[in-house]
Amino acid sequence: MKQPRGFHDLTGQTFGRWQVIAFAGRRDDGQPYWRCRCDCGTEKTIWQNNLTRSNPPHSRSCGCLRREQMRVKMQLAHQIIGDAVKAVQSG
Ligand SMILES: [Zn+2]
Repeated sequence: MKQPRGFHDLTGQTFGRWQVIAFAGRRDDGQPYWRCRCDCGTEKTIWQNNLTRSNPPHSRSCGCLRREQMRVKMQLAHQIIGDAVKAVQSG
């Protein structure tokens, strides 16, 4: 398939947890879409700008990264509350 000038093939590149597995098409304005697979196995079609832009930061995962960070924060919060409760109980 012939691609227009300035076209960058991102296949095989990684952006955060995303690995680009295939070209997925193009918007009306010419911006390409890419088929990407997250580390966790989720596949999604992502607009190139969402992968490569730096401000606001690009999408780094399907959402699993954020979920993991949330879980860590929750665990930490539970630990702190748990310690506080123990401290109160032990008087
Ligand atoms: Zn994921």
